Amino acid sequence: MYRLIALLFLLTASALPAAAELDVKLDGDAVQGGMMIGTTDPSADVFIDGKSVRLTEAGRFVFGFGHDFDGPVTLKVVKGGQEVSRMLSVGKRDYQIQRIDGLPQKYVAPPKEVYERIKRENAEIARVRALDTKGTWFATDFIWPAQGIISGVFGSQRILNGEPKRPHFGIDIAAPQGTHVVEAAGGIVAMAEPDLYYTGGTVMVDHGHGVTGVYSHLASIDVEVGQIVKRGEKIGTVGSTGRSTGPHLDWRINWFKERLDPQLLAGPMPPQQQSAKN
Ligand SMILES: [Zn+2]
Repeated sequence: MYRLIALLFLLTASALPAAAELDVKLDGDAVQGGMMIGTTDPSADVFIDGKSVRLTEAGRFVFGFGHDFDGPVTLKVVKGGQEVSRMLSVGKRDYQIQRIDGLPQKYVAPPKEVYERIKRENAEIARVRALDTKGTWFATDFIWPAQGIISGVFGSQRILNGEPKRPHFGIDIAAPQGTHVVEAAGGIVAMAEPDLYYTGGTVMVDHGHGVTGVYSHLASIDVEVGQIVKRGEKIGTVGSTGRSTGPHLDWRINWFKERLDPQLLAGPMPPQQQSAKN
């Protein structure tokens, strides 16, 4: 009799985990340049197209789709014997294309003598973009880092003298020199460089889980590497440093190597979000 009761108990106990279904919630934009935040059991393992991603203590994870992301993405969540697999289709976007012909050659390619410098700087940027830290700032609502006129959008591309250039991966906000630039989400400053070849005064902020923010062409920088910055905190001022034709902030967001569209995260620029001037 005792044996039977013990056996019944075991059966019930082993049947319990299967009864509690592994829940996965997704929030965000399944389009090129979009970012998605998922929520599931914090002890589960999550894979995006086979790549293991980190979970917060609350079971949140993030992934995103770059400029040219093509095809569906597979999300797999595993816990014990349970597995939830989902295939998400990712929407394609129409980007702005602009053709400019008859340009003098000097504007088309950087001079040979700066190749080494550009290579070095790109390696440092790639190192920051590969960071996979446990910060949870990526899951907060993003705000606009500066108020101004949107003069360049994500994905726009120029064809100079018939040669397609790299698409523009940021959002350009034209604003007077000295306009305050504030942190969009919060994070740890991972780069604070006053003079990179392309982007001039550049701040990179690690928002956690592979999500990084980049603020470029800054006239001045108020933060240093390793510093924790809060959303809304001043990190620098708008300038025209690096390869830039006028004062503006170039703001970018990455999920590892994928380029995300900041505008999808911050939504429309609120008119009341005024940035103070120096
Ligand atoms: Zn730009």
